[in-house]
Amino acid sequence: MPDLSCWNDLPVRREKVPEVVVASSAGFCFGVKRAIEIAEKTALSGNEVVVLGDIVHNQDVVRRIQQSGIRKIARLGKGDGKIFLVRAHGCSQELLEKAMARGYKIVDATCPMVKHIHHLARKSEKEGRALVVIGDQNHDEVRGILGQVRKKALVLQSDKPVPWQTLERLGPVAVVVQSTEDLDRVEKLGGKLQQRLKDVKFYNTICQPTRKKQEEIRSLPLRHDVVIIIGSKTSANTRRLYEIARVLNPRTYWVQSAREVKPDWLGQARSIAVTAGASTPDEVTAAVVRRLKTIGSVKKGIKEE
Ligand code: SF4
Repeated sequence: MPDLSCWNDLPVRREKVPEVVVASSAGFCFGVKRAIEIAEKTALSGNEVVVLGDIVHNQDVVRRIQQSGIRKIARLGKGDGKIFLVRAHGCSQELLEKAMARGYKIVDATCPMVKHIHHLARKSEKEGRALVVIGDQNHDEVRGILGQVRKKALVLQSDKPVPWQTLERLGPVAVVVQSTEDLDRVEKLGGKLQQRLKDVKFYNTICQPTRKKQEEIRSLPLRHDVVIIIGSKTSANTRRLYEIARVLNPRTYWVQSAREVKPDWLGQARSIAVTAGASTPDEVTAAVVRRLKTIGSVKKGIKEE
């Protein structure tokens, strides 16, 4: 029988916990950061400040904004000198005019990238072109873009068949794109529109932060065993990240907070990629990363040092 007593002195073998990699583009884009800064500064002005709907699609941010004193309203009441804060998604010309007519002062936190799309929409109308928007017709950003022109505009969904007959009847058109659309789908659709329509100006207005996020999410799921996407279920850009990643890696999960991360998801994972939508605060991402690391350590039975 060999003497095994010396084994008690050996150090505990430490297995590797899964590596957690956070995408460099995860979290707030500059447009959301800017809108929050404007909101918090406006809240300090001493005036009553209202915002129509949620300032961005994230409940943590919405709570923070409400705690700063800004009130969310469902419709415009009497302005009486109150401040009407325009969200990062922007709004229609009609809503702005109505707010001013009712006596609101306007503070505009519309993202400059969205403002640029508004500018292109109005310019195109002046040039005699019908406006076509690629995006989700129920999204506030798209409603705001449509609300820049007087004539009726057409919305195309990048994942649905193109209504060619309707499009061809429009004559000269200008096409703009919701800032958070899927880049691949839009490029393909843009190519088809340019080939088939006689007179079309195509402006691919997907913003730079969205492009960067999508570029990263096209490679991360291939290099990691599990992908975690963090963001609100109402956030269009988070949904897009999830849809892209899920096709590339079926072990992709979408959570809104650390509490929703399930230990089962990490079985045998050696590496986990994490990214977050444009309206997800860094604190939420950090909490998810902590939970992933804790679950990873427990699963491997590793003692904390
Ligand atoms: S996603 Fe793009 S367009 Fe939208 S707020 Fe952020 S930077 Fe602006």
